[in-house]
Amino acid sequence: MAPDLTIPSELLPADGRFGSGPSKVRAEAVGRLATVGVDLLGTSHRKPAVQGLVQRLQDGLADLFSLPDGYEIVLANGGATAFWEMAVFGLVDAASQHYVFGEFSSKFAASAAAAPWLADPVEVVVEPGQRPTVVANPDVDVQALTHNETSTGVMMELARPEDDALVLVDATSGAGGLPVDLAQTDVYYFSLQKGFASEGGLVVAVCSPAAIERIQRISAAGRYIPAFLDLVTAVENSRKHQTYNTPAISTVFLAAEQVDWMNGEGGLAAAVRAGERKAAHLYGWADERSWASPFVRDPAARSLVVGTVDLDDGVPADEVNAVLRSNGVLDTDAYRKLGRNQLRVGMFPAIPLEDVQAYTACVDWIVDHL
Ligand SMILES: *Cc1c(COP(=O)(O)O)cnc(C)c1O
Repeated sequence: MAPDLTIPSELLPADGRFGSGPSKVRAEAVGRLATVGVDLLGTSHRKPAVQGLVQRLQDGLADLFSLPDGYEIVLANGGATAFWEMAVFGLVDAASQHYVFGEFSSKFAASAAAAPWLADPVEVVVEPGQRPTVVANPDVDVQALTHNETSTGVMMELARPEDDALVLVDATSGAGGLPVDLAQTDVYYFSLQKGFASEGGLVVAVCSPAAIERIQRISAAGRYIPAFLDLVTAVENSRKHQTYNTPAISTVFLAAEQVDWMNGEGGLAAAVRAGERKAAHLYGWADERSWASPFVRDPAARSLVVGTVDLDDGVPADEVNAVLRSNGVLDTDAYRKLGRNQLRVGMFPAIPLEDVQAYTACVDWIVDHL
C-alpha cells in the first residue's frame, strides 16, 4: 500500500513522464499532430504526402547523425524486436558475437541462438551494471553491440573491433542522446519511442554500404527469408520513402517532429551536452544522499539517457514509486528482472534538466515524509 502523500505542487516537474520506454512525447509534437498531422492520418502511405513525411524523417535523421557517404536510412515495421529477427535472417552470414550486459542485449543473442542455420553465437557476458568492451573475433561475421542497455543504465563505447565483421548496434534507447560516429558502425538501429519521443512500431536502421551488400548477398544466395522480415524489401521500400506494409503514420509524424526539434536545438552535440548535465545532476544527487548511490560503479559507463540509482533497504523503491505515481510522476521503476531496490529515470532529449531536478526534489520530499 502506498502511503497517502501529496507532494507540494511547487516541487512537481512540469511533465511527470520519466519512463525508459515508451517515454515522454512532447506536448508540442502532439499538438502539431492534431493541427498539421491530422491531414495525413488515414491517407495512403504510397502517396506523396505520407512519402514526403517519411522522407522528412529520413532527411532529418541524416542531418542529426551526419550520415556518412553511401549510408542509407532504412525503415521497417515491427520495432527493434522485429529487427533482431530480420538480422538473423538477412545480416548474419554464419556466426555472430554478442555483448550481453542486461536484458535487451541478451535478446538478440537468443534470437541468433535459436536460428538453426547459424552457428551458436559467441556471447561476451558481463554482470549487470558493468560494461563490456569489444573484442575482435575472426570467426564471426557480425558483432552485435548495444549502445545503451536500457535495463541497467550502462552505455557502451562504440568502436569497430579489429576484424571484418559487420558492426550492428542496438541503439533503441541510446540514439539521439549518446554520441556516435556512424562510420564505426554498419547498422545503427533503433525504435522511435525512446530518445525520439514518438510511439512504438517502427524501426530505423542506418545501414552502411557493406551492410546493404551483405543483405543483398544473403538474399541472392537463396536463404529462406519470411517476406515480412526481408531486409532487401525494407531497403527497396525505404528508397521510395515507404514501408513494406502499413506503418503507423503518427509514429512517423511524431518522430519527424522530434528530429526537427532536436536539429533546431543544435543537433546531436547539443542533445549530448544537455544529457551530460542531466546525468551529472542525477548521479551527483545520488552520491550526496546517504540512502542512495548510482548503480553503475564506473562513472564513464553511467548512461546519459537512462539513470539507475540504488536505494538503501530502508527506503523501499516500490513505495517511493507508488507515491510518485499517485502524484503523476511516472514509470521510474527498476527493470523488473533486475530485481533491485532501484529507481530508473529516463533522461531522454525531450526531458529537460529542470524536470530531472524536480524529480530528485520530489524523491527527497518523499523520503523525508515516508
Ligand atoms: C526498448 C528496447 C528494445 C525493444 O524495442 P521495441 O520497439 O519494443 O521492439 C530493444 N533494445 C533496446 C536497447 C531497448 O531499449
